[in-house]
Amino acid sequence: MKKKNPNLTAEQKLVMFEDGTEPPGSSELNNEKRDGSYHCANCGVRLFSSDSKYESGSGWPSFFQSLPDVFETKTDYLLGYARTEYHCKNCDAHHGHVFEDGPKPTGKRYCNNGVCLVFKIKN
Ligand SMILES: [Zn+2]
Repeated sequence: MKKKNPNLTAEQKLVMFEDGTEPPGSSELNNEKRDGSYHCANCGVRLFSSDSKYESGSGWPSFFQSLPDVFETKTDYLLGYARTEYHCKNCDAHHGHVFEDGPKPTGKRYCNNGVCLVFKIKN
């Protein structure tokens, strides 16, 4: 189910619908530490809570857990080896890759392109 938001920037379209990746360190969300939630920039669905965000040192916003049942995954070989890509279950937009080197309790690292996320501060 692809529904492309007409207000997306060229970079957002590249990352979310052509499996692009933003340059590491480019997202202002890397430094976002306030309480709130992270939503899909394409469809607005809530994907992550700020409670699960952590500093991975990768240069991309990182989370050890998503909200329940918001993503689907598939394996890609774009870099020549298997990686687990995840995309928004609601709109099919690509968000990033999930790795098994995250912190406890999940051991997961959701490495998410910042351009795919919209932060909403808790009020
Ligand atoms: Zn979405």
